[in-house]
Amino acid sequence: MANAPQTPAPKPKDWILGIHAYVPGKSTGKDGQVLTKLSANENPLGTSAAALEARVHAGDPARYPDPDSKALRAAIAQVHGLDPARVVMGTGSDELLNLAAQAYAGPGDEVLYVRYGFSVYDIAARRCGAVPVVAPDADYGTDVDALLACVTERTRVVFLANPNNPTGSWLPRVEIARLHAGLRPDILLVLDGAYAEYVDPALDDGALSLATSAPNVLATRTFSKIYGLAGERIGWGTAHPAVVDMLNRIRGPFNISLTGQAAGLAAVQDQAFVEASRSHNAQERARFVEKLEALGNHGVRPLPSQANFVLILFEGKVTAEDVYTGLMDHGYITRWLPGQGLPQALRITIGTAEQMDEIAAAIRTMCEAAK
Ligand SMILES: *Cc1c(COP(=O)(O)O)cnc(C)c1O
Repeated sequence: MANAPQTPAPKPKDWILGIHAYVPGKSTGKDGQVLTKLSANENPLGTSAAALEARVHAGDPARYPDPDSKALRAAIAQVHGLDPARVVMGTGSDELLNLAAQAYAGPGDEVLYVRYGFSVYDIAARRCGAVPVVAPDADYGTDVDALLACVTERTRVVFLANPNNPTGSWLPRVEIARLHAGLRPDILLVLDGAYAEYVDPALDDGALSLATSAPNVLATRTFSKIYGLAGERIGWGTAHPAVVDMLNRIRGPFNISLTGQAAGLAAVQDQAFVEASRSHNAQERARFVEKLEALGNHGVRPLPSQANFVLILFEGKVTAEDVYTGLMDHGYITRWLPGQGLPQALRITIGTAEQMDEIAAAIRTMCEAAK
């Protein structure tokens, strides 16, 4: 092959080369053994029975689905007291996060989010050639002042998940309002509510009402978490009609599948399932956290969580990696996050009562053995 001319190849954009692919929660261990998956914040109660039933009778798969997901958008709007014309669907809320960055930011612009924010924000920023800017955290929580201090004349989009993933931290309504009030009106604030339904309803952070009243707020939600429909890839957002119009121009034309529209419609109309999932989660999270807090003398520190997972810091003899590996031996896969700058932390999804008891007991045994 000496003297073979170099084959010209398509040249990727520099900003695409800077992207590290999203790392999904795993479902198997080192040698491929199937483990109980508490690594992706899926619903341990599964899916609403009505949604499963609707999915089976969704219609003729030879036909394209409704490009505008009209029935699903109407049902979402009704449940949340919104204008259906201001509801936009995404193939998962991931699609909407990417579209928001793409519509409002590009090369030379900045996209801002907090340290230990959702890893998709970095990808969304880079995909459109913008520069991701990361504001410092406040003991793993969101620091509104730190975010505002990072705003420059080039800032175009600010992403904030509330509750945040992977930390589980949550900002109250006054803080969200203060963040919004501190941003220039030409900056789009994206409030990612992937775990919003897990928050005590008395603690509404005001994201949906801000998206209704302000011209520069996009609030997103998903069917992947509390609705137990992660496999169907359904997300939605609400914003000012001008923002909704932009996202509709660039989304996939048939971006919610036939089965997704049918299942989503039945799921959103089954709020009893949502309520059961929320109360199961609140109860098991509290029980789990209490057991972890009892291990404080071993350097185990669960961060306060409003979500369906807990981020646990291991600041003593037993490391997060030890516990990650140890739990695999017990048949559980959790989320160890060295790639997100958190080698000291494990994120564990709240599963069933039995699973959480077994995990808490296993962590206690590991701590006591390390003494
Ligand atoms: C899981 C998650 C999402 C959404 O995922 P989709 O399945 O694409 O709807 C969005 N934001 C955060 C913070 C998440 O954890």
